[in-house]
Amino acid sequence: RSKKTGGANFAFYTQDILVEANNRLTIAAELKRAVAGGELELYLQPQFDIVNQCVVGAEALLRWNHPVKGFLTPADFIHIAEQTRSIRFVTQWLVKEVFSIVERWQAHGHDLFLSFNVSALDLSDFELVDAMHNTARHHNVDAKRIELEIVESAIIENFQSASNILNTLRETGFSVAIDDFGTGYSSLAYLDKLPVDKLKIDREFTGKLGADDQGGVVKSVIDLAANFGLRVIAEGVETPEQEMHLQRLGCARAQGYYYSKPIPVSQFDKTFLQLSRV
Ligand code: C2E
Ligand code: MG
Ligand code: MG
Ligand code: MG
Repeated sequence: RSKKTGGANFAFYTQDILVEANNRLTIAAELKRAVAGGELELYLQPQFDIVNQCVVGAEALLRWNHPVKGFLTPADFIHIAEQTRSIRFVTQWLVKEVFSIVERWQAHGHDLFLSFNVSALDLSDFELVDAMHNTARHHNVDAKRIELEIVESAIIENFQSASNILNTLRETGFSVAIDDFGTGYSSLAYLDKLPVDKLKIDREFTGKLGADDQGGVVKSVIDLAANFGLRVIAEGVETPEQEMHLQRLGCARAQGYYYSKPIPVSQFDKTFLQLSRV
């Protein structure tokens, strides 16, 4: 009996793997079609200066309007896109979108930057650098208005190549932020070698700010950033109390649902362009 159950489980397990593998290939193939067919969309989430109370920039977050599966968020497909390497097509598309949004803002006199997320794979060769430099030729955009977000592990796991690429981009004037800071290696040994301009404090730490947590970790990251000459922003701010703590701790910038969820570009323009510095 136990043998039979084991066999059935095994068959079931094998089935799962096949379904999973198939799903992966489907998503990879569909993603290529999605890029070409206009199914991808950028949502923007504003980043605030909480000292002067104005919008200073935004983060671009990917959404997929899938014809059958509906509205997908990155959790549904980014991981698979990375594993199957189809993230490259996405990033190529992303770069063009980001430049055209920034060009439009700049042409209308808005002093805003736009950041976008890149994966480890995007830092494994010069494809991203080529895309950025080629796209820059077709758009009238100050490089300083474009920022790349990358998690620490993506830099450290392939340090030499990633540093070369990020430094090449920074020499052109683009800036680089470490995303989800504090959840990765955060090794002090690496910190002064990281080719970056900004740290984004992960929402895990921001979310804990309150009566029981006066912000020891957050304060440490703020001090760290100051000591290394880096800018800093807190992610995942959801309440006015959290903002108050950040102001008290000397964190000048914040992003999170308290200000706005990620929203379509047209809605961002309507709501937030008027709140930017001029
Ligand atoms: P991330 O870059 O750390 O982005 C922040 C995520 O936290 C976003 O989820 C955002 O909607 C969410 N968030 C923002 N404020 C709050 C808040 O106050 N509370 C809570 N609970 N959540 C908040 P989203 O858009 O689902 O993106 C998830 C992750 O997917 C991103 O994390 C990023 O790592 C990845 N991702 C998104 N867009 C792209 C992309 O275009 N390319 C690549 N390679 N990765 C992307
Ligand atoms: Mg990010
Ligand atoms: Mg983050
Ligand atoms: Mg993240």
